Amino acid sequence: MKVQCAILAVALAAIGCATGETLEGEDSGPTYVGVDGVWIQQVAIYQSLKRVLAEGGVPAVSNVPLVAGRDAVVRVFYAAAPEKIGTVVRGRLEITGHESLIVEGALVGQSFDHDMASTFNFGVPGDAISEPFEYRVSLLHEAEDDNVTAHHPAAGRESHFVEGPRNTLRVILAPFQYNADGSGRLPDTSPAMVEIYRQRLLALYPVSNVEVTVRDPHPWSQPIGNWGEGWDSVQWALYAFRDQDGTSADVYYYAIFNPADTYEQYCQGGCILGLTLMYEGPPDVGTPDMRMAAGVGYWEVAPDTTAHELGHVHGRLHAPCGPGMDPNSIDPAFPYANGGIGVWGLDTVTLELKDPTKTPSAFGLDPGPSDMMAYCTNEWVSDYTFAGLLFRGKNVNLPDIQGPTSRSLQRPQPARVDHELILIDGQGRGDWKRSVKRQALGPAGSIPVSLRTLDGQTIQARGHYYRYNHLPGGWLFFPKPAVSVNRAELSVDGKPVAVERR
Ligand SMILES: [Zn+2]
Repeated sequence: MKVQCAILAVALAAIGCATGETLEGEDSGPTYVGVDGVWIQQVAIYQSLKRVLAEGGVPAVSNVPLVAGRDAVVRVFYAAAPEKIGTVVRGRLEITGHESLIVEGALVGQSFDHDMASTFNFGVPGDAISEPFEYRVSLLHEAEDDNVTAHHPAAGRESHFVEGPRNTLRVILAPFQYNADGSGRLPDTSPAMVEIYRQRLLALYPVSNVEVTVRDPHPWSQPIGNWGEGWDSVQWALYAFRDQDGTSADVYYYAIFNPADTYEQYCQGGCILGLTLMYEGPPDVGTPDMRMAAGVGYWEVAPDTTAHELGHVHGRLHAPCGPGMDPNSIDPAFPYANGGIGVWGLDTVTLELKDPTKTPSAFGLDPGPSDMMAYCTNEWVSDYTFAGLLFRGKNVNLPDIQGPTSRSLQRPQPARVDHELILIDGQGRGDWKRSVKRQALGPAGSIPVSLRTLDGQTIQARGHYYRYNHLPGGWLFFPKPAVSVNRAELSVDGKPVAVERR
């Protein structure tokens, strides 16, 4: 059998070439054995972030989860004796349950993280990643005697636990048609733009796949301001879409709108780009009806803003980088200074590396990569956020074996009961909405609410308060009492708030 592979003698771009050929022990063909004078020092797999599989010949442990069904790049780091430099050899990646991958390239003296051309790189399709992940890598040439240091592991295959199940993040973009200025302006939801959103989410989230669909435009005549005016009303309209559309619980709704012609016009003098209602619990799943966020639809900022806001919906707080960030919104457990990504990153589509040793910033021409939950430029994702997103996503996202039209395999959702909902603005004023059906939550994370009945009695209840992430104010839900109530009192950030039902 002939191997149909591009020979990349200099730049080892990740051209994994699948072949079913057995390279060793064929009667008629050449015998490929481990190259002498070569030592494999490290093997790493990248599904946006570097996870070291083996170091110094032994399996490594890592905080970076592996995700089944997610495209990956495997890099083999090695050292070669001086006389071997420039020799073209064959790299092979064997994966249990999948065809071997082959690349060819010229040896260098030493591999480095920052230099893709210094490693043997294999583009691994997501279908080759399943639990457990078992592999062996080899650097081979035609010869008689095998060199064991040109293989890892030296014999057999090394097995790794795949922490992330196959899962698909599903997002519905909900365009709002902006009529407040008479323009009827719509954000770009062309197939090309939707694919940009999808690819961005796929790069940053620990998922096997992302589906992005677009809802019919929703006419909107209320003003939406660059510092938060009208954003709460958008959220309230968005909240109703899931029930109106009959959408399953795993889907995230994301409202997009363009209150001015261009991003520059909208954001002159500063602006908010997106808004989410924050609530940390239950941490492993969140609440289905709050799987929503809103943001501007300008192409320059919309995909990154979507990733950031949906990160908040996954319960993620801010990473410390960038101007104007509320100190109380910063995740105290975020592990890296300046909102960095902590470990090497790699865009497995473009093969662009993300250097964690460079300092992130909101300014400058060439800042280091920042975590997507920061306010800095050159956004990527830290291992901390990546693991946090998986913690939520593995419980919420549907397995990707289930197509978008199939709803039959969904896990049963908790019963929904009547709740009262009050929108509270930044001045502590309340807007008592009609009652809504939503999942009953336990006492965890609840706050006391004092209610007045129609006949003047006071009863005590417990509610759940969801604060806006980038604005003061938030939403209060509490279970509808058995008797009618017309006044609610609670404490928000230490300040008393009293709302009368109109
Ligand atoms: Zn934020």
